[in-house]
Amino acid sequence: MDLKQHIRGIPDFPKPGILFYDISTLLRNADAWQVAMGRLAHAVAPAQPHLLAGVESRGFLLAAPLASKLGCGFIMLRKPGKLPGRTVSLEYDLEYGTDSLHIQEDAVKPGQRVVVVDDLLATGGTLAAAISLLRKVGAEVTMAAVIIEILALGGRDRLGVPATALVTYE
Ligand code: 5GP
Repeated sequence: MDLKQHIRGIPDFPKPGILFYDISTLLRNADAWQVAMGRLAHAVAPAQPHLLAGVESRGFLLAAPLASKLGCGFIMLRKPGKLPGRTVSLEYDLEYGTDSLHIQEDAVKPGQRVVVVDDLLATGGTLAAAISLLRKVGAEVTMAAVIIEILALGGRDRLGVPATALVTYE
């Protein structure tokens, strides 16, 4: 199955000049959703993760069912002010300004293998921050997994771990 047929590009979202790749159409198609999960599971299983970490919020939609399918735990990397208890955070640069990701400080036991999951890899800023944050709490990050990779931005070179993507765009 060509998963690209289930991803649509929406021009000028969230702002003029940006082409946004929308995975809603993939998620709402039962067969495409199943195929995507199967392919991600196949790619991620060899990394033998103890945990999958999802990046808020579309990363959650993929990481949680994938973790269940692979028989590993699921942890959340969240935007500020969402997680209860003691947290650790990391600030990272956006095109304009900064953002931050947060994790519960006890989310990972020292040395646990973690694969980080998001919907899309563009500049790699988000996943690079996610990987740094996971390392801060003791994770051994072994891989990053996404549905979509935008090749021209070279984001995978910033990650320092192998990355797998189901579909790519120039
Ligand atoms: P990066 O940090 O690699 O530049 O951007 C990736 C982050 O931005 C991901 O968390 C992803 O959800 C979001 N993102 C940026 N552009 C798009 C897009 O076109 N489609 C989707 N679904 N997410 C995007």
